Amino acid sequence: MNAVRPDPVPPDLVSPVSVTVTAVTHSADFIRPRLRADRRDRLALHAGVQINGAPHVGTNVMQTAAFLLAEAARDRFGVETVLRFGALDNTACDTRTCARTGTLYERSYHHALGPEAIGELTRRYYGGLFDSLSAATGVPYEVQTYTAQQSGSVFREEFLRSLVLRDELRWVLAPSSGRLPLSFPCPECGWSQKHGEGTELLEAGTRQARARAVCLDHGTYAVDVTPESQVYIGSTTLHRNLVKERAAARDDALPVIVKGADWAAGCRLLDEAFWCYAGATPPPRVFTPVILSESGAKLSKSLIQEGKADLPAGIAPWMLDVTLWEGPVEEYAHLLLRLVSLMLSDPRHFERGYTTRELARLIGSDGGSGAAA
Ligand SMILES: [Zn+2]
Repeated sequence: MNAVRPDPVPPDLVSPVSVTVTAVTHSADFIRPRLRADRRDRLALHAGVQINGAPHVGTNVMQTAAFLLAEAARDRFGVETVLRFGALDNTACDTRTCARTGTLYERSYHHALGPEAIGELTRRYYGGLFDSLSAATGVPYEVQTYTAQQSGSVFREEFLRSLVLRDELRWVLAPSSGRLPLSFPCPECGWSQKHGEGTELLEAGTRQARARAVCLDHGTYAVDVTPESQVYIGSTTLHRNLVKERAAARDDALPVIVKGADWAAGCRLLDEAFWCYAGATPPPRVFTPVILSESGAKLSKSLIQEGKADLPAGIAPWMLDVTLWEGPVEEYAHLLLRLVSLMLSDPRHFERGYTTRELARLIGSDGGSGAAA
């Protein structure tokens, strides 16, 4: 499958010795211990897809790394490998503030736009790129929205179990406050309190939980969660990721979590949360290089949208908004494959971050098909 891209030739790429030197010769080997211990013959790599605006190059680097890690795992370990992307359609699309209490309410992309528009957004931002990366690596992929994930009975069972264990989990998932807020959107309008202040958990069992929540327009409403119920489940980022990972662990395929290295601190808490469950082991995780602005801050969609991203002059505009790439998507996919293959050529190049300026240097002076600004 490597025929489509030449072996990477490092153009003076210099990286410090990583702490895993001699222990890890390829970053896919982080998966090997659990694969051996679990004796499973299928792997599912899990990565995220954001739909709240056009992706920047950092997001695509992580996703390309997921395809290449899946390809390497398949070839090195001889196991069937699939890549599963979770599309975050639960991200806030609109916000409102209650004039009386100052409580912040939000409505998700799913509730504001509906599943059809979400599917269209996902295809527009990622469809062509993922098809090209899949064709080049031979790794099949699936995209599932958070809305679809949380509607499944396995996710709901794990959510209910997390509520039963909330006294142990809440100080792990929120070490500063011990608060694990829930926010169930109003069944009439889809708005919910951002921080769930008015949501009260009345009872929680492994098969059913009852709660009461408040809507800005429709007052108090009852929430009844069972494995089969249709109630939309809203929780904090870490809580949601724990439930997703617990649900993935029940699949036939061994789940492997692929995230940008900025997730390392949060994943430390997720690992600790797994230990709250009797006999549970956290999934193997592989962290991918983060793409940084000049100050060393990670490229951030919100900072870019607010015009606060500090970028050097002369950087190709598509690095901040990849929809500005002017060439064919296959060309962009091959540029990413060459770039991330270079990062994966030695763990010391993978266990580090890259500024956009260094990225431009590695890509070549023309910066690809998006002309420099
Ligand atoms: Zn409402």
